[in-house]
Amino acid sequence: MRCRVCRERAAIEVRRHNAAFCSEHFIAHCREQVARAIRKHWMFRPDAHVLVAVSGGKDSLMLWDVLADLGYNTTGVYLGLGIGAYSDESREACDRFAQGRDLDLRIVDLGSEYGYDIPTGAAAARRATCATCGLSKRYILNDVALRGGFDVLATGHNLDDEAAVLFGNLVHWNVEALARQKPVLPAAAGFVSKVKPLIRLAERETAAYAVMRGIDYIVEECPMVAGNTGLRYKETLNEMERTSPGTKHQLYFGFLEHGAPRFEPREGEDPPDVHPCTRCGAPTTSDVCAFCRLREQATDPERVAVALTRGPKRRRG
Ligand code: SF4
Ligand SMILES: [Zn+2]
Ligand SMILES: [Zn+2]
Repeated sequence: MRCRVCRERAAIEVRRHNAAFCSEHFIAHCREQVARAIRKHWMFRPDAHVLVAVSGGKDSLMLWDVLADLGYNTTGVYLGLGIGAYSDESREACDRFAQGRDLDLRIVDLGSEYGYDIPTGAAAARRATCATCGLSKRYILNDVALRGGFDVLATGHNLDDEAAVLFGNLVHWNVEALARQKPVLPAAAGFVSKVKPLIRLAERETAAYAVMRGIDYIVEECPMVAGNTGLRYKETLNEMERTSPGTKHQLYFGFLEHGAPRFEPREGEDPPDVHPCTRCGAPTTSDVCAFCRLREQATDPERVAVALTRGPKRRRG
């Protein structure tokens, strides 16, 4: 196999593009794919201040690396979830990366700043661990971005992630989630704009980029991930991709082009009645927002005492 650009020996083959690249041109290809996603989906302007959510894994650190190299003004944010050694190691990976590239990293600790960690909080609230984690991340990262005056919050969701979530949403006809499944969620009152610049790159490509660039990311998955349905959807799509390269791309980008517009709110449809949460002021359709309800349950001393004797439910919500 020869590199598509320089004809030197290739380091990686990208079957869905029917192409192979040497390391240098693969890195350039990844940067171009990110730049193209940002341009094509109007993610943010060249002078935007971008808050990059980093977990210590390959995708988010790769994203930060590419955005910084493309010349964007970036700050990283790491949310400590309190998931034992996994959280300690992931925080160290983010710290090492930021220091090595002289980038600004903000650290938010769920336990000391919000009073609960994910395993105990989920058990106390009697909710699925990943659903508790997802709600906490969405609320807190949005809050950090708003308070910090950032233009946009960027996350490291790649093509495999988005295709698997889409697959799951279609299997269950989760119409509300399908309406939100876009690479850009525009800013609204109380919500910063959220973007996913890695949608044109598969997981295997973000991993290869991270290795080629010498990014010291944590390889271990979160221990709470075991058995979640998202992983099974990923495995199914991987099998389809193996025999039919381009399946994930066709599913996801086909949906964006042909499916997503059908889930937009219809003209004349009443918008939901949104008002400020009576506790935190965030926009909500109830009196108290979902995060404040979760936090109340997750920090309730009696519930926590029971939870500590039982342990968490390991299921993605
Ligand atoms: S696997 Fe679940 S608990 Fe772990 S980081 Fe992901 S969403 Fe959070
Ligand atoms: Zn080359
Ligand atoms: Zn609230």
